[in-house]
Amino acid sequence: MRVADMVHSSKIYGPGKRTVVWLQGCSIRCDNCWNDELWSFKGGRFMMNHEIIQHVETHCDEGITLLGGEPLDQPKRVLQFIEHAQSLGINVLLYTGYELHELSKIQSQCVELADIVIHGRYMHELRSLNLLWRGSTNQEILINNEKFRDIDLTEKRQMEVHIDSMGQTKVVGYPTEELVESVSLLNGKMKSFKLDGDRVEV
Ligand code: SF4
Repeated sequence: MRVADMVHSSKIYGPGKRTVVWLQGCSIRCDNCWNDELWSFKGGRFMMNHEIIQHVETHCDEGITLLGGEPLDQPKRVLQFIEHAQSLGINVLLYTGYELHELSKIQSQCVELADIVIHGRYMHELRSLNLLWRGSTNQEILINNEKFRDIDLTEKRQMEVHIDSMGQTKVVGYPTEELVESVSLLNGKMKSFKLDGDRVEV
């Protein structure tokens, strides 16, 4: 799959401890999209399924979240990836900006197979930072795996700070400007940030 970014051991993009993968490329192009740097199908880098799975296993994550970009713009690869991950006991949360009635056969297969799906366009006029896993109130959570039927779906604003082995710091989710600036100051940087994405490098 064409991958733009990845974080590990996240607890805000689905249940449990997860690897989160932002896929590169989106043909939907919602107005005021937060991740428009992920629209191009030329960016990112191609990763084989087993390479991504290796990251999940190295960090002992229970699940993987695919978001974007638009995962279902690479449906064949995503379907193979979901099958591969689940065969190893790794659950998959899939984001898509498509509405369910718009899906092709193979895209529908991805949605039916994933353990949890967040679906629907991002609508800027319905944007809220206080939603669980979603960016706008029209988006819906579909739970396919019985194991997750009773998970806590209380709406909440969530954010995380990730520091990789190279010392690179990233704030993900829906952080406050205060949090991002505090992390930046701790890193010895004096910088102001425009919070218009769900990933900020600080
Ligand atoms: S919000 Fe998601 S589906 Fe919509 S344009 Fe942005 S990346 Fe694509």
